Amino acid sequence: WLTSAVTASLAQRRQQVLGGTYRLFYDEPVEVASASGVWVTDVAGTRLLDAYNNVPVIGHSDPEVAAAVQAELLRANSHTRYLDREVVDYAERLLARFPAHLDRVAFTCSGSEANDLALQLATHLTGRRGIIVTEHAYHGTTAAVRAVSPSLVTLAGVADYVVTVPIPRDGSDAERAQEFAAAVDRAVAELCRRGLEPAAILVDTALTSDGIFAPAAFVSEGIRRAQASGALFIADEVQAGFCRTGQWWGFEHLDVAPDLVTLGKPMGNGLPIAAVVGPAASFDSFGAEYRYFNTFAGTAAPIAAARVVLDRLGANDTPVRVNALGERLRSGFAQAATDAGVGALVRGAGLMVGVDFAVGGVSPSRAAEYVRELVNELRRREVLVSHTGAHGEALKIRPPLVIDEAEIDELIGRFAAALLALPRLAGDAA
Ligand code: PMP
Repeated sequence: WLTSAVTASLAQRRQQVLGGTYRLFYDEPVEVASASGVWVTDVAGTRLLDAYNNVPVIGHSDPEVAAAVQAELLRANSHTRYLDREVVDYAERLLARFPAHLDRVAFTCSGSEANDLALQLATHLTGRRGIIVTEHAYHGTTAAVRAVSPSLVTLAGVADYVVTVPIPRDGSDAERAQEFAAAVDRAVAELCRRGLEPAAILVDTALTSDGIFAPAAFVSEGIRRAQASGALFIADEVQAGFCRTGQWWGFEHLDVAPDLVTLGKPMGNGLPIAAVVGPAASFDSFGAEYRYFNTFAGTAAPIAAARVVLDRLGANDTPVRVNALGERLRSGFAQAATDAGVGALVRGAGLMVGVDFAVGGVSPSRAAEYVRELVNELRRREVLVSHTGAHGEALKIRPPLVIDEAEIDELIGRFAAALLALPRLAGDAA
């Protein structure tokens, strides 16, 4: 047993007080005692290689983040109705990372709030209600964004003003672009048939919950067609942003410019800070009619954490490094699968990597079963990862960006050993 009786009883107490909507990772849950860089140490003193967390993007327990946050808490950290130089300085520096037309930012506390506000902006600006999202998207947890998150509400179905578009899995880039564009055309027509013209096409630019289909240039033509029908393109960068995919922003892999961008997760290395970025005219128009006030969003302490993240990613030529490490990881994983005789398609950009096992005649549900076993096998081998895709058919690997070459090689070695330890995955037909 990896999980002690003490940790098991904590999991039970958690269940009692937090209830049924909360989930834990792994058959044998991890009770974290401390963490540093890409390593998590459990209460038994075992070090686990964290290949899953994109929140501590510049590393777990970063001392500079801790010091910057502490300094602000000891200086002044109240709410967002006073002038604060640090907050304005950060906003200017963040916006300098965006194309010129995206020149305003509104802070929120979470990615869900950012997408919620972006949807409010889009419906206000277009005077329309229809929303297009990808088939297995996740955009957050408020009532409004939950309604546009098919991965959350498969049973209840998405809201009646939402139409989903599938991600084409096979074919050349050009074929997939055409297929996606045709699906968007149909989605626009379907919304119009319902008397709801499209206000927005909301896309996670790494297609993370759909199974990680980054780089996602093939969605560009479809998005352009949605824009031509009057919809705004909201790029959800909560997963893909801040260098994750080897570009500062996932939309840089596309050849269509977003009308609004949402940020979150890694933005404050663990402090709750997220944002919507968009054009001045959009914010001014919205602001003329509505007040936006969010007590904690963009107070000094989380902004201090966000400033350290921006500085660190900016100082280290991060996209180049992330691309090189990502290539090393993907080719190592592909080789390990070949060596083990397991069919797997390794996808991704930078350090956002998916390993799809629903290939070569293996059904998505059989692949998902295998991935569940593999995730738990890796956890036993002291590696933390999880799964993604409509059925959970793909392994999801997304380490803090401070991971180094030796740690990537360690990850590849443990993945290879885990594949060999499991009963071999064969096609359903084999
Ligand atoms: N968008 C995407 C693409 C996400 O992955 C998430 C979180 N997993 C969210 C939005 C919501 O962010 P949060 O959990 O901070 O509300």
